Amino acid sequence: MNPLLQIENLETVLYTGSDPIWAVDGLTLHISKGEIFALLGESGCGKSMTARSIMRLLPDAGEIVAGSIKVNGLDILQLSEADMRNVRGKRISMIFQEPMLSLNPVLTVAEQIGEVLQRHFKLNRKMTQTRILAILNQVGIPDAAHRMHEYPFQFSGGMKQRVMIAMALAGEPELLIADEPTTALDVTIQAQVLDLMRELQQRNKMAILLITHDLGVVAETAQRVAVMYAGEIIETAPCADFFQNPAHPYSQQLFASLPGKQKRDQGLAVIDGSVPLLSQSFTGCRFADRCNRAWDLCHQSVPQWYDVTEHHQVRCHLFQGTPEPDIATPVSEA
Ligand code: SF4
Ligand code: MG
Repeated sequence: MNPLLQIENLETVLYTGSDPIWAVDGLTLHISKGEIFALLGESGCGKSMTARSIMRLLPDAGEIVAGSIKVNGLDILQLSEADMRNVRGKRISMIFQEPMLSLNPVLTVAEQIGEVLQRHFKLNRKMTQTRILAILNQVGIPDAAHRMHEYPFQFSGGMKQRVMIAMALAGEPELLIADEPTTALDVTIQAQVLDLMRELQQRNKMAILLITHDLGVVAETAQRVAVMYAGEIIETAPCADFFQNPAHPYSQQLFASLPGKQKRDQGLAVIDGSVPLLSQSFTGCRFADRCNRAWDLCHQSVPQWYDVTEHHQVRCHLFQGTPEPDIATPVSEA
């Protein structure tokens, strides 16, 4: 199988304070053509930096220091910036949590989508207008023939998000990266936008990398999921397996502390303790200080990947095949 997106051992560093921060630390991820893949994690775990690394749109203080990112076999980290501009929008598009960060307030919706079309396709004026209208209809903008000549501020939050999706689709990308695409929206509009993304994924046969902190969004939308914690992926599985049998203690604690399982809009539950600083180097499991099943080994050695089932992998010492110490036995009775 030849995956659409292959990320191998990606390391992305931020130089913001006195010590460099490994925001993404050795991340490996494969996404197949046409698949909806969710990257799940708390804020600050490196999800957005992963997305921005794939787009090669890092903040000034950010740098990819190791690894490779291939799209259809093409290593995009080796491309010149000029070549990368042809990849962005055409092969990979991204939509952001806050539409106003990526919509230009002084251009009409038609002008902005038109710019994308002109960059990637040779279309005359009439064909461009026809295509803009078709895309806006596709994402469900009512009265699109009229509204395409309006400015972003004239649209509601949900409609702005649709305009952003329209812009991202204009180049007919093979991969759409959606970073918390519904977080800023109310629950009803969230559901509509997720429905729309699923529908477009099926119709356009594109893959979606859905970045979210919301288990409900994962459950309703994705086919596969990877859980990210402190700059690395710690569990990956088909969604059905993951929801039935979350393997990593972090994943289990996320489920356990949800008020109602798979409830939408709960966000990720709060787990005691805090995410470790990513400027340090780790001698053991990154989750050890917060893990309710940690033992000595967890603090001493970095866990490897283990198979839970053929398609379900986890990075945790509990799965290494040696018996787990009986940490439940009170010391006084031992
Ligand atoms: Fe918990 Fe140890 Fe597994 Fe890390 S390796 S998740 S500390 S049991
Ligand atoms: Mg983020």
